[in-house]
Amino acid sequence: MSTMNKPHDQWESYHDIDRYGKLTLSNIEFTTTNLCNMRCAHCAVGYTLQTKEAAAIPSEEIIKQLDRVDTLRVMSFTGGEPLLTKRGIREHLLPLLKYAKSRGIKTQINSNLTLPMSHYELVATYLDVMHISHNWCDEREFVETGFAMMEQKPSFDKRAALYRNIFDNARALSKGGMFVSAETMLNRNTVPFIQKIHDEVANEMLCKRHEIHPMYASDFASALDVIGLDEYRDVVNQIIASRNEDIWILFGTLPFYPCSTDARDQALLTRIRNASNITIRNDVDGRSRMNVNIFTGDVSVSDFTDDGAALGNIKTASLEGIYEKWLSTNISSSINCHCPAVKCLGPNIIVKNMYYPTTDFKSGAVQSVGASY
Ligand code: SF4
Repeated sequence: MSTMNKPHDQWESYHDIDRYGKLTLSNIEFTTTNLCNMRCAHCAVGYTLQTKEAAAIPSEEIIKQLDRVDTLRVMSFTGGEPLLTKRGIREHLLPLLKYAKSRGIKTQINSNLTLPMSHYELVATYLDVMHISHNWCDEREFVETGFAMMEQKPSFDKRAALYRNIFDNARALSKGGMFVSAETMLNRNTVPFIQKIHDEVANEMLCKRHEIHPMYASDFASALDVIGLDEYRDVVNQIIASRNEDIWILFGTLPFYPCSTDARDQALLTRIRNASNITIRNDVDGRSRMNVNIFTGDVSVSDFTDDGAALGNIKTASLEGIYEKWLSTNISSSINCHCPAVKCLGPNIIVKNMYYPTTDFKSGAVQSVGASY
């Protein structure tokens, strides 16, 4: 009898294909603050961070829009640091978290986990996933990289104390029953330390899941070295070989696809398919997910907004209308290939541009598991 365990990933876009037969708006990410107590070198939204919060759209108005999206099943909250101020938690987060709970919608908050425990206690009852980043080789690297873009930095000791908070908070929240999921982005800085980072996530932070994603050169992260596909494949194999099997490993935005004609990619995908407690997530952005900024009402798709233009605004259009408009754009079609045999929904746009700029991904290229065209 097989003992393979594949945990159910609530954020997987393919659940919508299984249920509705097509890409569906089921996932909304909210930007609920532009404030943060850190200024990481690799922050994906570093250029948007501010020191004073603007007025937000009232939660009741946002909820009216959400009421119209029958297919909504997951919501995420990001920033900045969504849990930075208790006022922000009470005014912006809690109404949406309570609303989600009342509809059975699963929720995730992206936090740097450096704050006093009382901030986390305010949301614990309503939250399904506490998502954190762990890209730190050690305390010194956190102290330097985590505040790289800050002009007036706190003292070394104060920054170091925040690093220890991450470990203490993760452990305490995990012990209290919260699902804490740590994400590590693979780049030239993290790859040499990936085993140490994984061991910390599993054994010291007691996280339930370790997410592994690529780091791509964009915005604040443009100065950081991305790694090539050969190195990426090697490090994924290394992680699988030396992982703690008790913790779920989720490969997000994995830059290897079932249509690959490279035998090494196929071997890796087979290895993942046959491993307990390891899953691959189809990229959600632009497939099941759009982002709503609660201050401006702008709706966007992460990774597709380099020109700063929103797809629409919830003050003037419905979320589903904006989503349908998005699906009809050339840029959306350019990455939305689909192979039902392997439940693959194609590459992330940045990954495609970075690793496969000339590849023409064709829907239906893979007709059965393990067979490429
Ligand atoms: S859906 Fe696209 S990326 Fe995935 S296997 Fe098919 S052609 Fe390749």
